[in-house]
Amino acid sequence: MMIKFILQCGDRMVDDEKYMKLALVEAQKAFDLGEVPIGAILVFEDEVIAAGHNMREIWNDATAHAEMIVIKRTCEKLGRWRLSGATLYVTVEPCPMCAGALVMSRINRVVYGTTDYKAGAVESVFNIVGHQALNHQVEVTAGVMVDECRLIMQEFFRQRRNAKKQLKKLSLPTQE
Ligand code: ZN
Repeated sequence: MMIKFILQCGDRMVDDEKYMKLALVEAQKAFDLGEVPIGAILVFEDEVIAAGHNMREIWNDATAHAEMIVIKRTCEKLGRWRLSGATLYVTVEPCPMCAGALVMSRINRVVYGTTDYKAGAVESVFNIVGHQALNHQVEVTAGVMVDECRLIMQEFFRQRRNAKKQLKKLSLPTQE
């Protein structure tokens, strides 16, 4: 019994890494587009139903977070809003909007990579997905491929800071 349990846990860890790698591929696509590099995958019955990444800047849409996109795509594909049995993988801890959407769509489990200490709404700043006042709670696994998920974010913001510095250097002196 115990061995079976440990084996199942082991399988789940392997699966979690496998799917998080796919979420990281999505994050890289966002990076290449100049979007904050966050990627997500939605898995239902061991099958990837939807993949997506942050598109806020290009779509000019405040709600175009990776999680919202894959939830929407999955609802469309499965033809229902209730996503019981699904697991959402995302490279960064979801914000309050996305954590709310996880609850609203009745997703069973969320797996994320790196923590968002500024606006995370799974565990760090708020705990929306486990809040007892809501009628659905989401199981949480944190820290899967945390280094890779954090690195791509750090690299994105480092490059953006450097680009800003370069722009400053290039700009003409203002007349006083
Ligand atoms: Zn979000």
